[in-house]
Amino acid sequence: MYFLNSNAKMGWIEVITGCMFAGKTEEFIRRLVRLSYAKFEIQVFKPAIDNRYCENKVVSHTQNAVEAIPVKDSAELLVKVKKTANVIGIDEIQFFDNNIVKVADELADKGIIVIVNGLDKDFRGEAFLNVEQLMVRAEEVKKLHAICVKCGNLANRTQRLINGKPANYNDPIVLIGEKDKYEARCRHCHEVVY
Ligand SMILES: [Zn+2]
Repeated sequence: MYFLNSNAKMGWIEVITGCMFAGKTEEFIRRLVRLSYAKFEIQVFKPAIDNRYCENKVVSHTQNAVEAIPVKDSAELLVKVKKTANVIGIDEIQFFDNNIVKVADELADKGIIVIVNGLDKDFRGEAFLNVEQLMVRAEEVKKLHAICVKCGNLANRTQRLINGKPANYNDPIVLIGEKDKYEARCRHCHEVVY
């Protein structure tokens, strides 16, 4: 293959997003593994707060996993990026500070493939601002859906339940949920108590 600019560098941003139970982490891991077959040097980061399954891994609900480095914020992430890295994966992107948007942009400008994974909305159905901004800047956005547990429609919202009842708008955002507290719902079945 002949390119006019043979010194052309790579580098772009891919966003994998949607609600919970949509298979986002499966897709995230699939993309990273695919790149690893082609011998790209990959580093994966996650917020230090997410200890759902394992401290040093990103693990999907179906138990696929990749190694991941826990970091406390975007500044620490940037410091820990290796000079030789070709691909940076960032999991649970919605839990990072807003500077992660700039960091992702800078890495992509330098020639790195940046793949981020995370929720686009909180349990109230409102945008996580860093994810919203990354979706605008990204070359590719893959928005995955779940299936509404109430009616079978395509679901793009995460229902939060506290003691089996829809959460109140003013309840603090709990960072990580399991199936007993969160479920996928469509726009018609999603409930927020005001
Ligand atoms: Zn529904």
